Amino acid sequence: MQQNSITHLFYPPRCPICDGILGFQEGLAHEACRRRLIYVKEPTCLRCGKPVYSPVQEYCLDCTRKTAVFARGNLFDGGASVWVYTKEMQESIARYKYHGKQEYARFYADEAVKHLGGWIRERRPECITAVPLNRRKLRVRGFNQALLVARQIGARLKIPVDDRLLVRTRYTLPQKELNPRQRLANLQKAFGPGDRASKYASVLIVDDIYTTGSTMQICSMILKKCGAKKVWILSLCIGSDY
Ligand SMILES: [Zn+2]
Ligand SMILES: [Zn+2]
Repeated sequence: MQQNSITHLFYPPRCPICDGILGFQEGLAHEACRRRLIYVKEPTCLRCGKPVYSPVQEYCLDCTRKTAVFARGNLFDGGASVWVYTKEMQESIARYKYHGKQEYARFYADEAVKHLGGWIRERRPECITAVPLNRRKLRVRGFNQALLVARQIGARLKIPVDDRLLVRTRYTLPQKELNPRQRLANLQKAFGPGDRASKYASVLIVDDIYTTGSTMQICSMILKKCGAKKVWILSLCIGSDY
């Protein structure tokens, strides 16, 4: 018996979608489970990549709002996501983040490269980074869920990954309890440039979930103010305008 089949016997890998045991030849997820996920497809917002109602609508509602708040030069240059944030992915990401299922990162990165590898390569980012976690969350969780996926994407595409571009400067209040203006102010105080923030001309920022995009926008703004010419964003899951 080979080493990996022994490992498989004692620590059978789990399906990231249903958390059931995977058979030896089933790959990184059950095929039937994978088919239950909704992969992002056009029409999407021209800026952030969020699914929109119709091709006539160029930008999603959040991007339309952001264009009014942020200086044009500080907006991120484009974005893409793998899945729509449905119940299946919500549960998967929750197990990944809070219940020690770090092994799911392999599936997430694999699907990201399969579906968005071409999109990433075309943009030729000098490096990949991840939205940072504050120290308290990092201590409790033990790992940065976005960085883990970013590292695996970087390794597969041979793009360097650098986690010293952005820092989380303080603990933020739960965003849910705030109105949009308070949210933005709250978030802006929470992030700052890391010691290598000015090192790259083009950066791809990775995160797990994209909702309104404020976090990504603030991170992009920081890097652009530090001299980055192009900033793109990639998230595993994204909300939709409908
Ligand atoms: Zn499954
Ligand atoms: Zn958008």
